[in-house]
Amino acid sequence: MIKKITLIMFLIAFFFALGLVLFTVFFDQAVIVRKNTLYHIRANEKVVALTFDDGPSPVWTPRILDALKASGVKATFFMLGMHAREYPQVARRVAEEGHEIGNHTFDHHGLFYYTPEELAKEVGDAENAIFSATGVKTKYFRPPKAWITSREKKQLINMGYKTVLWSLNSKDWVTFDDRYIVNYLLRHVQPGDIILFHDSGGVFRPEGGNRKETVKSISRLVEKLKERGYRFVTISQLLEFQVK
Ligand SMILES: [Zn+2]
Repeated sequence: MIKKITLIMFLIAFFFALGLVLFTVFFDQAVIVRKNTLYHIRANEKVVALTFDDGPSPVWTPRILDALKASGVKATFFMLGMHAREYPQVARRVAEEGHEIGNHTFDHHGLFYYTPEELAKEVGDAENAIFSATGVKTKYFRPPKAWITSREKKQLINMGYKTVLWSLNSKDWVTFDDRYIVNYLLRHVQPGDIILFHDSGGVFRPEGGNRKETVKSISRLVEKLKERGYRFVTISQLLEFQVK
């Protein structure tokens, strides 16, 4: 009897986990928590914001910065405090090259929500680590895996933060072909979009993923969108294009 109950519990947990993985791979969980966040703006001009999460990475961030520099594009990097502390010179380069830096918590827990104390600590510790490395005080927050509750959103506003999600997800953490990524983005892009990429991270760890496809995607995406008349802006700049 006990064995049977254990088996049933295991199966429920297994299918719940599987469902969650399939949901995040094939859908975009950010869509369901967009209320009271910045994920897209209504813009009359063709502007988009490229954003990169989970870095800085000593392997991939420099290559992404090179690609952005070659394309003449400024982007926004939502850094993890632990990575900014570990690779301060990479974080500094991001700031020095004129990109914007946002806060993506200190260590990217896989939790569905934080207690108020945990959230204050995660954001505060990341803010301090990013500030020590770059001299930048973050004011935009992006929750890991887009798991955020309305209570957390309110707390972040009280802490002086604006929560930033995205309207277009490159799915670069599960897509292994840059042509697919670029074609998908070109098919769906609209003025005012915030596009999600990753310059670090992994499927199960905060770093170690291969971001070769992300690097390759940037120059082609930028070239094609420039042909269509698009400009690339940081999150702060994007807000200036908001139609009132
Ligand atoms: Zn992340």
